[in-house]
Amino acid sequence: MKLIDKFVRGSVSLSGTDILKQVEASLPSKAEVTESRFEGASVAVFSKNLKFVMEAPEYLREVAKNMKLRVEARADKSLLVTPEEAQEKISRLIGEAGITDIFFDTHRSRVIVEVEKPSLVLGPRGTGYGKVNEIKEKTGWTPVIQRKPPLKSDIITTIRKILTKNSKDRADFLHKVGMRIYAEGKEPKWIRASFLGASREVGRSAVLVQTPESRVLLDCGINVAASGEDAFPVLDTPEFRIDRLDAVVLSHAHLDHCGFVPFLYKYGFEGPVYCSRPTLPLSTLLQLDALEVAQREGKTIPYSSKDIEAAVLHTIATPEEEVTNITPDVRLTLYNAGHMLGSNIVHLHVGEGFYNLVYTGDFKYGPSRLHDPAHNQFLRVEGVIMESTYGGRDNLQVSRADAEDQLLDAVKEVAGKGGKMLIPVLGAGRAQEVMLIIEAAVREGRLPEMPIYVDGIVWDATAIYTTYPEFLHKSIRRAVFSHEANPLLNPIFRRVGGQKEREEMMAKDESCIIMATSGMLTGGPSVFYFSHMATNPNNAVAFVNYQAEGTLGRRVMRQPKDIILSTRNSARAVMPLNAKIYSVQGFSGHSDHKQIMAYLNNMTPRPNNVMVVHGEASKALELATKIRTTMRIHAKAPLLLEAIRLK
Ligand SMILES: [Zn+2]
Repeated sequence: MKLIDKFVRGSVSLSGTDILKQVEASLPSKAEVTESRFEGASVAVFSKNLKFVMEAPEYLREVAKNMKLRVEARADKSLLVTPEEAQEKISRLIGEAGITDIFFDTHRSRVIVEVEKPSLVLGPRGTGYGKVNEIKEKTGWTPVIQRKPPLKSDIITTIRKILTKNSKDRADFLHKVGMRIYAEGKEPKWIRASFLGASREVGRSAVLVQTPESRVLLDCGINVAASGEDAFPVLDTPEFRIDRLDAVVLSHAHLDHCGFVPFLYKYGFEGPVYCSRPTLPLSTLLQLDALEVAQREGKTIPYSSKDIEAAVLHTIATPEEEVTNITPDVRLTLYNAGHMLGSNIVHLHVGEGFYNLVYTGDFKYGPSRLHDPAHNQFLRVEGVIMESTYGGRDNLQVSRADAEDQLLDAVKEVAGKGGKMLIPVLGAGRAQEVMLIIEAAVREGRLPEMPIYVDGIVWDATAIYTTYPEFLHKSIRRAVFSHEANPLLNPIFRRVGGQKEREEMMAKDESCIIMATSGMLTGGPSVFYFSHMATNPNNAVAFVNYQAEGTLGRRVMRQPKDIILSTRNSARAVMPLNAKIYSVQGFSGHSDHKQIMAYLNNMTPRPNNVMVVHGEASKALELATKIRTTMRIHAKAPLLLEAIRLK
């Protein structure tokens, strides 16, 4: 039996260097390979023969099948025309697609071309490789075609610049990741999970999964409602060593799941972060915003924008429903979680069938306008770590239709009184869901037309939403790909960019809807609007998401007569609360009690161990009890710092 066959059958492990040698050996001599390198879990071979690069997919398909490895051939740098010449040729070849930006990733022989109409280059289903091949043939560069964000997104442009400006560092990093993934590993004789945050609380999600060989951190968030050390995951435990951490996997971009990632880089982490394509720009946006809000309000976050940049440079965007090796004994697959753009159910396959763990992050197993319901059909699963934000027995959400009616009635009432309505939202998720509801109501004549102001970061996040329509609900996908009508692009939405505009809006006698962060009134423009709107009985505040204990949002929701606002410099102001307060629950991006139980009951195959996290103590405990008693499977709500041996 050839060595490579033994490797594939798992009876012998090859090191990274062996694998690269095997790949080269399996190519014909005309391949004239000058170098082969890992790019994360896949391999790039660089060839001096452009004709071979053009024909390579034929050979590489076979290699990929035999070695279970993605391999791509690119031109050696000696074959590349200059960037200026390439730019000119690319413009001539695909100018009709509307080129808006070109970046050269010189160390990987790739050129990233941003176009208005990618389908003109890639074909309607991404199959028309003709133009792509022509670019390769005429310039040597391998083109990566990307869609121009329909709304300008500085974040997406900045990320692209960071990645291409640091082309060599990025290439070296990806190679190092590959060498680690394919290092010879110890056998997975055990697996355990340590709960470093989000135990019987909502916030600071972080679960460390360990095997004898690997250490993978699932999420690394902050608790925006807490202060001091309670705001961050507990990383000063014996089992967590930053220099031995292999990888971080992010379920989604909300700060309670990704807000502490830059801290890891500040303190020397050099490994990869895996997440979906939209999660990269969204998490970067929300981290930068958290930093800005903290600075403005005199709070501290223990990292800087330099550390956020380091996180970008180390992030590997991972396609959904594709198996990716992330350590010698852990394979990762991401599935839709239905919670926000790019949110994922994380599936880890350990060893050769040794153990399968599902981590839900935040998930929605129910209808929404933006996303399809969370995925729960797997080949194998034994353990599940699941959220319980609305896991309590009496956490039953009203139906979507009722919730939409409630919100629209509230808007009509405010409009009738000529007042303003504030909807505090997280930058991404519920905000875009509510935008779609209002957009549909205005379009169908169920709501009068009125300005809908979308403040700062909510707008920036919406721009990212419109860049990745393939991650949205099938009805939106259909609309976008058939006639390019994304409802999020409706001109009824108006961007608010700065403080001056906010003050003008408040001074104007105009009925309007305002969507602004933060969602729990813990800082940001929503607090500014609230402080200007609270005393006027014609105004209203509509809460559409979870309000954590200890936040201004939670206090306002109780509708006291007076409300105390702490302003900058810790001064306090007392003001009467006259604005009408609504709390509309049905739009949650989280599953309610019934949906959580349905998600588990319908999960294939049936797991044998459920660990309940990300919920207030009473809810997490109630849910665990319910799972134990009705499904008769092992379930518990682990304490902070508890470690559980899964097998
Ligand atoms: Zn979330």
